[in-house]
Amino acid sequence: MNSVEKEQLEYIEKCRTLIGEWSKEKERSITYCVVTFGCQMNARDSEKLKGILEETGCVSASEDEADILLYNTCTVRDNADRKVYGRLGTLKEVKKQRPDMVIGVCGCMTQETVAAEKVKKTCPHVDIIFGTHNVYTLAQLLYRHLSEKTRTVDIWEEAKDVAEHLPVRRKYPFKSGVNISYGCNNFCTYCIVPYVRGRERSRLASDILEEVSRLSKEGVSEIMLLGQNVNSYGHDLKEEDRMTFAALLKAVADTEGIRRVRFMTSHPKDLSDELIDTIASHPKICNHVHLPLQSGSSRLLKDMNRRYDKEHYLELVRKLREKIPDVAITTDIIVGYPGETDEDNEETLDVIRRAEFDNAFTFQYSKRTGTPAASRPDQIPQEVVTRRFNKVLALVQEMSRKRAMLLEGKTLPVLVEDVNEREEGLVTGRLENNMSVHFKGDASLIGKYVDVVLTECKGFYYIGEIKNV
Ligand code: SF4
Repeated sequence: MNSVEKEQLEYIEKCRTLIGEWSKEKERSITYCVVTFGCQMNARDSEKLKGILEETGCVSASEDEADILLYNTCTVRDNADRKVYGRLGTLKEVKKQRPDMVIGVCGCMTQETVAAEKVKKTCPHVDIIFGTHNVYTLAQLLYRHLSEKTRTVDIWEEAKDVAEHLPVRRKYPFKSGVNISYGCNNFCTYCIVPYVRGRERSRLASDILEEVSRLSKEGVSEIMLLGQNVNSYGHDLKEEDRMTFAALLKAVADTEGIRRVRFMTSHPKDLSDELIDTIASHPKICNHVHLPLQSGSSRLLKDMNRRYDKEHYLELVRKLREKIPDVAITTDIIVGYPGETDEDNEETLDVIRRAEFDNAFTFQYSKRTGTPAASRPDQIPQEVVTRRFNKVLALVQEMSRKRAMLLEGKTLPVLVEDVNEREEGLVTGRLENNMSVHFKGDASLIGKYVDVVLTECKGFYYIGEIKNV
């Protein structure tokens, strides 16, 4: 444990005392809620925030009831920002009625100067504001706020220390995300991530493997390796510490007790043959690759600074399908990037048809202040974006339904994750390709792998029947 981690543990202890006093005063437990917006990286950060809060003695509650309410924000798209501002607006009245409530905002939105200033100015009822680089200092910030009764703002320009041994509250006891790198060096012209998450920093393989092994001993059997671009893992490490992502993936999958390994996200420019061969040959590495396309037009891809073209992308899809016959390929697509023409849109539709994606997350281009694309004069009118978007969405749905139908009638292993909230008597689990299956069962199955017959394909999920327990 390094000195930064020791210091933060001391702050957790100090908070525990203050939370204990607060709890005595209230004659009940002090509650918290962390609301997460955005991607898997944010979800993982939220697990760290929850771990710290639980260690201070707080107990989890709903957003409406929590004494300490934290928004871990996303700024990749405009509507994510709007959602947060909307909720913060509603909280103004709540805070008047419950003045001792603590409201915090952190994550990508507040890492961005303009948004942080806006929160500071327009939301005086927000008590703690911090960014992406100092998530692990939550106890220190909370302590400062609780003891000094002042607003606490602490946004770091860049990441400083690494604190890996602080408490984490995992959403599921049987599966976990593991960060392998932070930040991104790619500067795609539409993307805010390199500005709010900083430059790419890979963790040491030895630290990652130690964490995986500890998680496995705690009962975790499925690992999701996380990075903005996992394929460039290790490039920034010293030569003696360097390891390719494929080698790391294999080492994680070889860890005793681990049954499934996933990863997110792969950049097409860095997807190596070594990685494809590793996925193909290792039974524990899920046959699922999320490979963001963004656009099928080589002209637009160049403009976006993606550093691959349509042909290269389709060649990767061909190789993946040839070497891993049952691979599921999912993607992200942006419609309405500045300067996009109907011909560019046709190129995207062409790739969707040829790649036959198992699923695609389709987004309308969202202007992010500070990125090169945002200041372009050739922004696309909304009605044109909507027309193109609807075409893309319809084709994506047609293709993914076609792919999903291929598995109907098959029996496949499913990791059971939850009891189904909508229908009593059902549980929900995931296939290796990450699709959901609902079938009869009870809470005793959660965390187990069971063989399930996929009796009916519903497009984006399946209804199944358990074969054995
Ligand atoms: S690879 Fe591009 S899209 Fe992905 S996080 Fe980095 S800059 Fe953003």
